[in-house]
Amino acid sequence: MKASQFLISTLKEAPADAEVVSHQLMMRAGMIKRLGAGIYSWMPMGLRVLRKIEAIVRQEMNRAGAVELLMPVVQPAEYWQETGRWSKMGPELMRVKDRHERDFIIQPTSEEVVTDIARQELRSYKQLPRNLYHIQTKFRDERRPRFGVMRSREFIMKDAYSFDRDAAGAKASYQSMAKAYRAIFDRFGLRYRAVAADSGAIGGDLSEEFQVIAATGEDAIVYCPDSEYAANMEKAEALAPREPRPAPRQALEKVPTPGKATCADVATFLDLPLQRTVKSLVLATDRTDDAGQVVETQVWLLLLRGDHDMNEIKVGKVPGLDTGFRFATAGEIVDHFGTKPGYLGPLDVRKPVRVVADREVAVMADWICGSNEEDFHTVGVNWGRDLPEPHAVADLRNVVEGDPSPDGKGRLVIERGIEVGHIFYLGTKYSAPMNASFLDEGGKPQLMEMGCYGIGVTRLPAAGIEQNHDARGIIWPDAIAPFTVVVCPIGMDRSAEVKAAAEKLHDDLAASGVDVLLDDRGERPGAMFADWELIGVPHRVVISDRGLKEGQLEYQHRRDAAATKVPAGEVLSFLR
Ligand code: ATP
Ligand code: MG
Ligand code: MG
Ligand code: MG
Repeated sequence: MKASQFLISTLKEAPADAEVVSHQLMMRAGMIKRLGAGIYSWMPMGLRVLRKIEAIVRQEMNRAGAVELLMPVVQPAEYWQETGRWSKMGPELMRVKDRHERDFIIQPTSEEVVTDIARQELRSYKQLPRNLYHIQTKFRDERRPRFGVMRSREFIMKDAYSFDRDAAGAKASYQSMAKAYRAIFDRFGLRYRAVAADSGAIGGDLSEEFQVIAATGEDAIVYCPDSEYAANMEKAEALAPREPRPAPRQALEKVPTPGKATCADVATFLDLPLQRTVKSLVLATDRTDDAGQVVETQVWLLLLRGDHDMNEIKVGKVPGLDTGFRFATAGEIVDHFGTKPGYLGPLDVRKPVRVVADREVAVMADWICGSNEEDFHTVGVNWGRDLPEPHAVADLRNVVEGDPSPDGKGRLVIERGIEVGHIFYLGTKYSAPMNASFLDEGGKPQLMEMGCYGIGVTRLPAAGIEQNHDARGIIWPDAIAPFTVVVCPIGMDRSAEVKAAAEKLHDDLAASGVDVLLDDRGERPGAMFADWELIGVPHRVVISDRGLKEGQLEYQHRRDAAATKVPAGEVLSFLR
């Protein structure tokens, strides 16, 4: 591939709404383009990454005996009514009407459709087990689409569905997928962890999430370095012992004077499970003058690891506590910190914010804390007048780093992760309402036992970048890089030797199956190198007149600090 024929569109600055580094870098590297909230085009550079991910997924799924098909994006409502999900699912399910006023949905997953196929096609025990999958567009009307393709509304998922004769068979199918998923995620070259997840009403432990480890991940995961124990925080907390807590109403009566509350009051009032999903914490206090007038309200923002909710912090009031207290708005906080809305970094910012005194504001003497709306799992603590220590927040969890592992084999470590895959034993959850049965050896109809297995194909590049980047840009693992090698000729327009050598190297590499791009745009070296460092191509070869005279080319891996001279004749074997 030649750069002059390709579409390269790098940007100096990321758009203001790009809060996390992967979103910023994907926009700057010209991988994706925003069309609307949570809706993105995949530009040629990004699409190459996506296609490589899909190819790996497809190979390993096929290797595990799964069969690819392609099911529709737009699905008639009646199938969703059969399973009850039409009424059970909330606004995340995108519903549309056709010209005849008939109801349809845009699929968030495909259990209904695949179960309908199975009940028609898989009629005998002889046809089981079967595993059917597709790599197809999904739509979920997420409440807060954000971080670019990480949590978008339209995205691509690989979803597979297994059909078995009995629970034992289904569990074996599940285990075969668990193995295939490990093979897939190993090949991407990312650091990940498979963790036990809640399997909801189905019971058993047969649900695992595959989490790419990254400080900006939305999920917390807990594991024991000395044993096999690994779970997501929800699962870990569900198993952790919990102190009984007072009911909210009682707590409210304890508030001494209307309009005044201590943090402890707020804590009890909110009566929320401990820090389970807390991502950010707002702490506020008033400074009063001698006459007791509020002269200043200070709002402190404490971000827990991996928080990126800055622009969401605008909770109006603590419910039921009629203090008129107001948290700082995102704008105020952003103004103060002089930063873009969004991510400020792990365990960051404990700088006071002066909120322009709004006289209506709090008459509170004590600290109060709260969190953003969605993560209202906050408990107040009397921090005192001193700045809270960041780790004090972690202490509020039921599950804390350093706790003994439930298997008793060591101590727990907590990390943040990005959910890139999820596998699930379903039992007859879908086959029962849809009556998907087969005839057993005795000719008797039996319900099929199912499992489902998803991979967030379009989320993966973003997760990969969260884990692999530096100040200059993306650093792709070879397996999913848009190009593996970039050939950068210097002065190609002036030197026939450089041009010929660059073209030959490109052609030779391409002929031996290396995914190579020749940068023949005629950019200055500085701009050219900056582009490729931003885009993150792992291997770069520089060809210059001077080097050619010495019979040398310059090789540099994206992680190397400097280039290495390589004899021109050896570069090919070096890269292959
Ligand atoms: P999340 O917890 O991130 O909302 P989920 O548990 O709702 O994800 P699943 O139903 O398990 O998602 O779907 C399988 C996979 O699809 C997820 O593991 C994730 O990688 C991907 N995925 C889910 N929602 C999105 C989204 N809005 N944008 C991109 N990928 C997504
Ligand atoms: Mg979700
Ligand atoms: Mg999830
Ligand atoms: Mg999930």
